[in-house]
Amino acid sequence: MRYISTRGTAPILDFDAVTLAGLASDGGLYVPETWPHLAPVEITAMAGLSYVETAVRVCLPFVGTALTEAELRDLLATAYGSFDHAAVTPLVQLDQRHWLLELFHGPTLAFKDVAMQALGLLFENFLGRSGKAVTIIGATSGDTGSAAINALAGRDRVEVFMLHPRGRVSDVQRRQMTTVLAPNIHNIAVEGNFDDAQALVKAMFNDPDFSGRFNLSAVNSINWARLMLQIVYYFYAAVRLGAPHRPISFAVPTGNFGDVFAGYVARQMGLPIDRLIVATNSNDILHRALSAGDYSAGQVTPTDSPSMDIQVSSNFERLLFDLGGRDGAATAAAMRGFEKTKAMAIPADQRAAAAAIFDSARVDADSMARTIRWARDKCGQIIDPHTAVGLAAARASAGDTPVVTLATAHPAKFPDAVERAGGLRPVLPQRAQGLFDREERYATMAADLTTVEAYIAARAQPSA
Ligand SMILES: *Cc1c(COP(=O)(O)O)cnc(C)c1O
Repeated sequence: MRYISTRGTAPILDFDAVTLAGLASDGGLYVPETWPHLAPVEITAMAGLSYVETAVRVCLPFVGTALTEAELRDLLATAYGSFDHAAVTPLVQLDQRHWLLELFHGPTLAFKDVAMQALGLLFENFLGRSGKAVTIIGATSGDTGSAAINALAGRDRVEVFMLHPRGRVSDVQRRQMTTVLAPNIHNIAVEGNFDDAQALVKAMFNDPDFSGRFNLSAVNSINWARLMLQIVYYFYAAVRLGAPHRPISFAVPTGNFGDVFAGYVARQMGLPIDRLIVATNSNDILHRALSAGDYSAGQVTPTDSPSMDIQVSSNFERLLFDLGGRDGAATAAAMRGFEKTKAMAIPADQRAAAAAIFDSARVDADSMARTIRWARDKCGQIIDPHTAVGLAAARASAGDTPVVTLATAHPAKFPDAVERAGGLRPVLPQRAQGLFDREERYATMAADLTTVEAYIAARAQPSA
């Protein structure tokens, strides 16, 4: 499989190069040149397969010749061996129509582990072959950072610099990052919000002096391999509920549009997904874009679902590119305009194409809290605020198609917010205990490019 940039001019890459590259050199995001297709008989044949075996079938066409099927199977079995549930991503039925897909059984209690545990192994494999070292620079609203740090701590040839907005991640999230003391892990608390941290990362990638000195890479959801690994659970869940013979909808608590884009890809690959419900908190740029064509970034409002406190959703560019007929020059022009004005009107044809697939909803704090109580009182489930945003949108959706809400975090990752909303304080599962007894290590600095670059330059491995 070959990968092309959404902005049309970056070099075409294979799977191993695209995994290590992250952002494309023209500022765009990599996507497969074509969507692989699984026929209904192939989807039917997934019934009863293990998670790992499902993942092999979904990922193989994207991986191409970068790994043999046996190598891929081995790698996935190792990655998902660290999960505390044999089904990896178990389904829980809430009522006649609603289901939760629990994506938080990995080591850091959020769905990011599902992709990151495998991505860490892909990095190690591809770097070992090439003999190169990489410097990973990322911005996190909490969960990406902890998942990446857990997956990459102590790995050879990888130096990780993770920026988080100071004071805007939960204590559990921060400690999952800052208590990892492996020498290749560097945490930076930035004075600012997530978008400030993200803007710094983008600026470092776009600074030719700086990026020329280091072999920079990214592990946020602009990384194609992460999205590929997230496509798997859409197939896994839908097949368990009767796909391809019964259409299923998914409600996805959304921030950077990575997780829900993986659902879009599953649908492009032939999985009969009826609706993809994009659920946002009060940071609702995606809801405004999909419902009114208004893709304009406002100020970030802090909420109880901090991993969705995002105004600029990087992966939305992948959707616009695909829905707009895969015209790299047009996408580049549109995104350059957006970067200048922080606003863009979605063209009518792309809006119509999106409306055929996506619904969207903005879920405010009250509705989120009511949904936590509903799940507790009616279903005996303690859910986290991100999941509650998704479930609120699912319950507000029309029709009677079964809806799977992606449960993106364990409630114990956000105990204060869950307690405020529902009165029950979730306890940390066994695999995360001890977090509050460990030493923390991180640097704090202003959201200033020169300062952050100097800090990283003093610690990163220069490219050969
Ligand atoms: C990252 C995250 C999200 C948002 O996922 P995107 O891929 O950025 O849309 C939602 N919930 C939780 C718990 C997360 O960690």
